[in-house]
Amino acid sequence: MLLRGMSHFGNLLRVPLATATTAQLRSGEERSCQAIEHRRATLNFELIVQPPSDIPDEAHWIVVRGGHIVIEAGVETLPFGPTPPVDAHLEQHFLGLLDGHAVWAVDVDDHEEPHDWHEFVHLRGLYGRVPDHQWVAAGRAEQIVQWDRTHRYCGRCGAGTRHHAKDRARECPECRLLAYPRLAPAVIVLVEKGDEILLAHGAQFPQRFFSTLAGFVEAGESLEGTVHREIKEEVGIAVTDVTYFDSQPWPFPNSLMVGFTAKWAGGDLVIQEDEIVEAGWYRADDLPPCPIGGMSIAGWLIKDWLDRRNR
Ligand SMILES: [Zn+2]
Repeated sequence: MLLRGMSHFGNLLRVPLATATTAQLRSGEERSCQAIEHRRATLNFELIVQPPSDIPDEAHWIVVRGGHIVIEAGVETLPFGPTPPVDAHLEQHFLGLLDGHAVWAVDVDDHEEPHDWHEFVHLRGLYGRVPDHQWVAAGRAEQIVQWDRTHRYCGRCGAGTRHHAKDRARECPECRLLAYPRLAPAVIVLVEKGDEILLAHGAQFPQRFFSTLAGFVEAGESLEGTVHREIKEEVGIAVTDVTYFDSQPWPFPNSLMVGFTAKWAGGDLVIQEDEIVEAGWYRADDLPPCPIGGMSIAGWLIKDWLDRRNR
């Protein structure tokens, strides 16, 4: 099954990033620049469940309203200060630390408007407007808010749940069932055949646009097993040399994308027509519309392949 939400478009707009250690850089030196940059952005954000007692009052505020995030208009940054830029909120979740300051996700009502000089921007449109590490933090905020909103009642006995005292979880006071934030792992694969790569135009893409194949991991399946199954189901070919590339939290709505490269091992392309409109093998000098770098791991996979050809 092709992933809904994978029809993201490439965006080459980049922003300066904060520090990364030499070891982090070295570990990624064989990868594309954007995969390395993404890893830095993720690593800058320190995930912690409970706020430490000695953090400064000024904090980063990620105000979430139905997939939209508040930014400071004109300044192009997430709000920072002693209080969030809204009058009322439903829930507030501590997410961790960014540059030594607390990061709070603030869940607000559908009708809540931010203070002057602030505006709501959809999470997708936020990419490129704020630094990458802020975009990663905003994605986490959106997922935590949506998880918290949709786990108010126990899935086993129906009782109202409450926040767990220590963990990021909701707990049923009656039967003790715990509900942790939901993640849907998915694989995304760049398949190579000689000097060509496999790209597909998914049925859910809004226009003629191609990307690498992707699909959700089934219960009881390994990541590599998903790679083989999805590619066989969607385009009818066998692959070999399945190699881990990188991963990306993908908050549309709650995926963890696990990227792989693989090599064609046999078979002609036979597309699964309800999922894929068109698929083919493409050379570097003849690519169809597709992401190259940008916000998604699909774009990083394709850019990495292009970079490797030029080394
Ligand atoms: Zn229960």
